[in-house]
Amino acid sequence: QRTPLIAANWKMNGSAALVEEITLALVSVPTEGADVLVCPPATLLRQFPTSVNFALGAQNLNQEKSGAYTGELSAALLLEAGASYVIVGHSERRTLNAETDIVVAAKLTAAVEAGLIPILCVGETQAQRQQEKTQQVIARQLDAVYASQPELLAKSVIAYEPIWAIGTGESASPEQAQQTHAFIRQHLAQYDAQAAVKVKLLYGGSVNADNCAALFLQADIDGALVGGASLKPAEFAQICLAVT
Ligand code: 13P
Repeated sequence: QRTPLIAANWKMNGSAALVEEITLALVSVPTEGADVLVCPPATLLRQFPTSVNFALGAQNLNQEKSGAYTGELSAALLLEAGASYVIVGHSERRTLNAETDIVVAAKLTAAVEAGLIPILCVGETQAQRQQEKTQQVIARQLDAVYASQPELLAKSVIAYEPIWAIGTGESASPEQAQQTHAFIRQHLAQYDAQAAVKVKLLYGGSVNADNCAALFLQADIDGALVGGASLKPAEFAQICLAVT
């Protein structure tokens, strides 16, 4: 009963030309059966024609509403630029921009309050997996957001992105991903059992046209957050087609 979602995270890549290419490549992807989302750099949001048959999202937001925050973008600015989703707490931002669990929670709250759908990213490092701390790390990342605000779960999408699988070509196996997704759904049930059944859980980390179908067959995998392969319009369209 969960509509799959296939999301492109372009990270700091792309161009006006790629906007045109992906728009064209996605024309033939049916809009029933799955939701498709493209998250380009925010400067490219307005380059998309208003008539596209997919949703647009941002990769980050600032948690403040407005003010003296040079270089930052609020939820309201992103909404006005055409975004309906926003990625929150991507591991690259947690690591490279020192985003703490507290900051991530504040950003997710700001997104929901403004009417953006947040995609909360969680996931463990290679070392944490080796130390069998995967579930502990993910529980902490989820608790930081939902323990004090369980009502936000019904308005969220969650992406499981094991850090060791991001940009490495080494995707988690479908079984590994399913195991963690099942844990996430079960852990979320303590906040809101109904919302936990309904929440979309995306897998991210070296998803491509070849490995996506096996991932999508898993019971708790409701789509993907695609990095590198989303920069290749034909391959991204194939991934979107594979889910329906
Ligand atoms: P890759 O698909 O390039 O591994 O990136 C995944 C990711 O970080 C999406 O947010």
